[in-house]
Amino acid sequence: TAEAGSDFIRDIVQADLSSKRHSRIVTRFPPEPNGYLHIGHAKSIALNFGIAQEFAGKCHLRFDDTNPTKEEQEYIDSIQADVHWLGYDWGTDLYYASDYFDRLYDWAEGLIKAGDAYVDDQSQEEIRINRGTLTEPGKNSPFRGRTVEENLDLFRRMKTGEFPNGSRVLRAKIDMTAGNINLRDPVLYRILHAEHPRTGTKWSIYPSYDYAHGQSDAIEGITHSICTLEFEDHRPLYDWLLEKLPVPSKPRQYEFARLNLTYTLLSKRVLTQLVRDGHVSGWDDPRMPTIAGLKRRGVPPAAVREFVKRIGVAKANSVVDVGMLEFCIREHLNKSAQRRMAVLRPLKVVIENYPEGQVEELEAVNHPDDPSLGTRKISFGRELYIERDDFMENPPKKFFRLSPGHEVRLRYAYFVKCTGVIKNSAGEVVELRCTYDPATKGGNAPDGRKVKATMHWLSAKDSVPAEIRIYNQLFSNPSPSAANFAADLNPESLEVLPDARIEPSVASNNSGEVMQFERQGYFVRDKDSAPGKPVFNRTIGLRDTFAK
Ligand code: ATP
Ligand code: MG
Ligand code: MG
Repeated sequence: TAEAGSDFIRDIVQADLSSKRHSRIVTRFPPEPNGYLHIGHAKSIALNFGIAQEFAGKCHLRFDDTNPTKEEQEYIDSIQADVHWLGYDWGTDLYYASDYFDRLYDWAEGLIKAGDAYVDDQSQEEIRINRGTLTEPGKNSPFRGRTVEENLDLFRRMKTGEFPNGSRVLRAKIDMTAGNINLRDPVLYRILHAEHPRTGTKWSIYPSYDYAHGQSDAIEGITHSICTLEFEDHRPLYDWLLEKLPVPSKPRQYEFARLNLTYTLLSKRVLTQLVRDGHVSGWDDPRMPTIAGLKRRGVPPAAVREFVKRIGVAKANSVVDVGMLEFCIREHLNKSAQRRMAVLRPLKVVIENYPEGQVEELEAVNHPDDPSLGTRKISFGRELYIERDDFMENPPKKFFRLSPGHEVRLRYAYFVKCTGVIKNSAGEVVELRCTYDPATKGGNAPDGRKVKATMHWLSAKDSVPAEIRIYNQLFSNPSPSAANFAADLNPESLEVLPDARIEPSVASNNSGEVMQFERQGYFVRDKDSAPGKPVFNRTIGLRDTFAK
């Protein structure tokens, strides 16, 4: 059900249904298959598919595949997988702009015959210069006065592949002095001798975005063509073409603000370069703002949907704090993720008064707020690992974790006290000696004495090694430069911890579910895991640790 008044686009849709302007809403999500989808696309997907769901309409997935030099089947496949992963479905409504190439071509001949389009032999550079500027009107092309016959002949020969790339274009004949530069005889077709993933070598001319997009909307009976604000100035052209052409329906275009995020670049050009130049391991690198990256990082799709819902849909561009996305992820995982223990940077501890060879099973809860998730057994023994950071030999005043002579609680286990420190020849602490108090089993002392810290730990024998990857922002600049992004890359965006320890049940769990490693954050198994060598990604830490 639609939330009335939830945003201006939903208001328009509701009004169009109420006034019976439309009996059924049809939207579309129209990616160009020239890269993987990112979180900005998720906003558009949630908007288009969301409106279709809420108003009992439908949403098409349409590949805007009009530029064969940049498009690949890999992108077509990943886009479908990512839309599904986000929780949306186009049913049988999967379309390709390339399926309309014949019709678009025929309509272009129609424009020529009506005197509304002409073949221009100016170079790309000349066309650009003669288009003018915001303050200067454009200049008519010397080829603008060609006869219909000459234009038809040249356009047909462009189609059959007679001319080289860039030698001619087809332009709409509108007005070179129009205040809106998009109306200064926009290019409708360009020559491109390139093989297309779907139409092969059939075409050596391809339609421009402006020509293909609105007509594809019209062919599919799209009622509300929702796009980002940079297309607002293209709307008069969108409407001009719909007016001139014998289209089967008249969609309307509406624009909303694109998503921008702090510490993030959402431009396919930049994301492509990050992959090509090896700044990341691939489109699904967990530091990427791609859907594939978020998924690999362990972000639940529901958290992405919640984020997109919270930021809303507005008519003015703004930059959203990436902390808001992280908040949504944490909020979701805090509810759903089972708790486990893992030691990221292990320090060995020997409990000197614990009998050699003895092993004890202790009970640990899987979720503090959800008893239905049950409990599990963890083993305690003479040799343990604790977190290196949880020990200081010479602690400052407010350090309440382990230090010589000091007592702490080991979660689900006992109080332990540090009695000795073993160092290597370099003077680094490599092992601790402790004693435990058997009377404190379960975590409380019968004599009522208190400790200020509770620490996680694992049995040395009954834990397994793992590699853990900690991710930080890919860019260290809150507003990274798209032009010179390499300078803003965060050199510490990936931290690999090769010697971590995890509970055996974590290592054997292949479900892909995200777990909370107590006190450390949320983690998910990575696809780089190998038998005996599991790899975990940190989805996110427990607290906001930056950008404050
Ligand atoms: P780029 O501009 O980086 O090449 P794009 O916007 O061209 O990316 P498309 O494949 O054309 O990518 O986008 C498909 C749809 O997603 C379009 O309707 C576009 O407006 C929308 N979209 C793209 N980026 C964002 C964003 N940051 N926020 C909201 N919607 C977006
Ligand atoms: Mg694009
Ligand atoms: Mg675009």
